[in-house]
Amino acid sequence: MTRIVVASGNKHKIEEIKSIFSQAELVSMTEAGFVGDIEETGKTFKENAYIKAKTVCDALRLPTLADDSGLCVDVLGGAPGIFSARFSGEGDAGNRALLLKRLKGLDDRRAHFECAVCLCLPDGKAFFGVGRTCGKILEQEQGDNGFGYDSLFYSDDLKKSFGLASEQEKNSVSHRFRALEDLRKNI
Ligand code: IMP
Repeated sequence: MTRIVVASGNKHKIEEIKSIFSQAELVSMTEAGFVGDIEETGKTFKENAYIKAKTVCDALRLPTLADDSGLCVDVLGGAPGIFSARFSGEGDAGNRALLLKRLKGLDDRRAHFECAVCLCLPDGKAFFGVGRTCGKILEQEQGDNGFGYDSLFYSDDLKKSFGLASEQEKNSVSHRFRALEDLRKNI
């Protein structure tokens, strides 16, 4: 089985990627021995996914997969987008509270999660996949499964929030699942 390093420090993301991409043996960058921070200086999800995968691949000389993802809200012009993790500067709960504040009283609550994945190989090749999943931002949290904005995201596919969805349900329609499917086609 091919061994692939996942360039992420987010344990929820790593778990989701492991269960979706089960045909390879996936190890986190920490388990593989990568230390240090990676600055996400890109202007798009795709650029940031490449920066993360390339940095870790160059350091460890091992095939490396990275995910860059976020929530894009229509009425906020696509924000928080690539800044989703740093939206409030106060972690996941702070991000959700700020999102509810920005959308207070607004009827148009359409949003989508977007994900770009990049697989870098030690020979310099890079492969990409992109995916999105559509829905709406709820007026209050529903469920506590998942992470990040999941409890506020009502999935159009599942007809319930990601916070109420099982791991399998979320992984069957998620932006991450779709990006990894797209990557598989592009390798
Ligand atoms: P990244 O590590 O820079 O890609 O940041 C991703 C951020 O986007 C996370 O910290 C979450 O706030 C948000 N996000 C991405 N994917 C998901 C998801 O599947 N569920 C909930 N929030 C997500």
